[in-house]
Amino acid sequence: MKTIYLVVPCYNEEEVLPETVKRLMAKLQSLRERGMITADSRAILVDDGSKDKTWQLITQFHAEHPQDIDGLKLSRNEGHQNALFAGLMQAKEKRCDAAISLDADLQDDVDAIDRMIEAFEQGNDIVYGVRSARETDTFFKRSTARGFYRMMSMMGVELVYDHADYRLMSLRALEGLAEFREVNLFLRGIVLMIGYPSTTVTYERAKRFAGESKYPLKKMLAFATQGITSLSIKPIRMITTLGMLVFCVSLIVLIYCLVRYFTGHTVPGWTTTVASVWSIGGLQLLAIGIIGEYIGKIYLETKGRPKYLVQEWLHEDQL
Ligand code: UDP
Ligand code: MG
Repeated sequence: MKTIYLVVPCYNEEEVLPETVKRLMAKLQSLRERGMITADSRAILVDDGSKDKTWQLITQFHAEHPQDIDGLKLSRNEGHQNALFAGLMQAKEKRCDAAISLDADLQDDVDAIDRMIEAFEQGNDIVYGVRSARETDTFFKRSTARGFYRMMSMMGVELVYDHADYRLMSLRALEGLAEFREVNLFLRGIVLMIGYPSTTVTYERAKRFAGESKYPLKKMLAFATQGITSLSIKPIRMITTLGMLVFCVSLIVLIYCLVRYFTGHTVPGWTTTVASVWSIGGLQLLAIGIIGEYIGKIYLETKGRPKYLVQEWLHEDQL
C-alpha cells in the first residue's frame, strides 16, 4: 500500500471548492477501503493568494477532516505552476510515496486516479494524464490549445500532447524535480526532463464544475511565452540562421551589383550603397545570433539544472 498525496492548486475557487473536497474525500475513502492507499494519504489544498473565501474554506475543511485535508497558503498569488510546485514540494517533505496534481475545478476526472496508482504500482515513476477528447471545450479553447502544442514543438519545447498538469509523480521523481532550481517554472516541460519510467493514462476532461477559468487569453499567451523562453533557446538559433541566410543573399547581391557596375548600368553610388546595406545587415544579424548563443549558454547555466539523475546503481562493497 502506498501513501498518496493529492495536490490541488486553488485560486479564487470558493464556488467549486466544497464540491471538490467532497469528491476528493469520497475518492480517498474508496481507495482506502479497497486497500490501494494508506490511511495517511490525503489531499493538500494550496491557496495561491486567493482574494475570496478560498482560504477560510480550506481552514474549515482542515478543521473538520484533519486526516484528509491539508492546507497550504502562499503569501501572494504566484500563479498556477508555482502553487503546484509548492504543494508537490510539501508532499515530498512529508515523504509520500507519490503525489498526484489535479485542478480544483473538477475538470480532471478523479476516477483516473485509480489507474494512475495502478500504473505507479507497476513501476512507473511518472504517470501523465492525457485527455482523450476535447468535446467539452469551446471551439476557441480547442483551437488555441492545438496551436499551442504546434508552436511549442516548432520552438523546440518537448511536451506530452494534450497533457495538462494532471499527473502522478513518485517520491523519486519529486526529488528529481526539486533539483531543478529554476525560478521560471514550466512544469509540464521540466517533468519530461526528469526521466525515469513513465506512462500515460487517458481520461475525459469535463467542463469546469463551477466558477470561471483563471486562464484568460492574456494568461494563456504569457504561459506559452513562459514555456518557450524557459525551456528553449531555439528562437536565438533562428536569429543565427536568419543572419547566415541574409549574409548569403548579400554575397549574391554583391556579385549582381558588381556585374551591373562593370556593364555600366548604374548611377554613381548605387553599387556601394546597395552592397553595403545587404552585407552589413547580414553581418549584424549574424553577430547578434552569435552573441545570442552565448547568452543562451549563460541562461542555461544560471538555471542550475541537474546534469543527471541516477536511476539505478549496481554496486557491492568489498568485504
Ligand atoms: N490556479 C492557481 N493560480 C492561478 C491561476 C489558476 O492556482 O493564478 C489554479 C486554479 O485554481 C485551478 C488550476 O490552477 O485549480 C487551473 O486553472 P483553470 O481551471 O482556471 O484553468 P483552465 O482549466 O481554464 O485552463
Ligand atoms: Mg480548469
